[in-house]
Amino acid sequence: MHVGVLKETAPRERRVALVPDAIARLVKAGDTVTVERGAGAAAWFADDAYAAAGATLGDAAAAAAADIVCKVQRPSEPELAVFRNGAVVVALVGREAAASVDALAAHGVALLALERVPRTTRAQAMDVLSSQATVAGYKAALLGASSLARFLPMLTTAAGSLTPAKVLVLGAGVAGLQAIATSRRLGAVVTGFDVRAAAAEEVLSLGAKFLAPEAIADDAATAGGYAKELAEDQQRRVLAAIDGAIVATDLVISTAAIPGKAAPRLITAAMVERMKPGSVIVDVSAETGGNCELTRPGETVEHRGVTIIGPLNLPSGMAMHASQMFSRNVVTLLELLRKDGTLTLDMTDDIVKAMLIRS
Ligand code: NAD
Repeated sequence: MHVGVLKETAPRERRVALVPDAIARLVKAGDTVTVERGAGAAAWFADDAYAAAGATLGDAAAAAAADIVCKVQRPSEPELAVFRNGAVVVALVGREAAASVDALAAHGVALLALERVPRTTRAQAMDVLSSQATVAGYKAALLGASSLARFLPMLTTAAGSLTPAKVLVLGAGVAGLQAIATSRRLGAVVTGFDVRAAAAEEVLSLGAKFLAPEAIADDAATAGGYAKELAEDQQRRVLAAIDGAIVATDLVISTAAIPGKAAPRLITAAMVERMKPGSVIVDVSAETGGNCELTRPGETVEHRGVTIIGPLNLPSGMAMHASQMFSRNVVTLLELLRKDGTLTLDMTDDIVKAMLIRS
């Protein structure tokens, strides 16, 4: 199997789809790998490391000529010109899935969309959404900590005693749980919240408090374990619980999401106005519209003394480890697709079937 690795061209994207360790693993299994020069540079993986791992370095056209081409972000319109008809690309499809499918089809390119990896035990090692959410949750906690004008831990010093910061994490999926764990490690007093019943136990197991168990709904999750949009009366209960807690909170990290939908609104402008001046909100859901009414995706705004950060692509900000985890997911997928040394798209396999987009 010939595997290609392209350099990312999207703004703010520093990650690379395969790191040198992964190349060594593929080469050992008999694959040939062509990497576009400079593909890993922004994540601190040098061309020399790729060459030492057994890759051939070349231009974009050489890497795109492979049987299967790996990228982080789906190819943009101009990038598509480099692919041959019949090429197979592994990448994130992004939110404009429909438009990109048309563009891909017009170029005869098939896409294995990484967001579509099923949430099954067998597919877990290929799940980039989970691995990248881990990075996002960690980064969000650090961003919040460094944006506050106070310590997170309790301190007893000759210059006086300082109380620990209160952190509220909304949404306790992969990103939220990592934000809870990281804030706890930094010494904050943490409260978590999620509408799924299963999340409460996970929050408590990390040593955080769980906000408002009464606001949990038995039917808040789909069979696949994702949250659904809430009924009106439950949404009211959730907002009331957050409203009650947010007044005393120093840092809110919001990660609540509903797959394929806009982020649920959990923090109103009125709630922000009741927060203490100097408080910070890190809205990890900014990319899908934000959990806070005042979030501006990609910007940091201040409203009556409260800083609201709407970060985009947090994993790219920790590109080395984010790429390493992404790469491990992609290699596991490539190993599934390699049958007797050749690329095989087996449509009877539930993982391949769920991921493949082609005309
Ligand atoms: P996600 O990114 O879709 O959403 C983040 C969190 O927001 C979820 O926990 C969700 O319940 C929560 N949320 C949605 N609406 C909310 C609201 N109104 N108020 C508060 N919280 C709200 O979720 P995710 O991180 O991808 O994980 C969801 C679940 O799936 C987790 O239990 C996770 O462990 C599980 N999971 C399983 C697999 C697998 O089995 N392969 C892989 C990844 C995740």
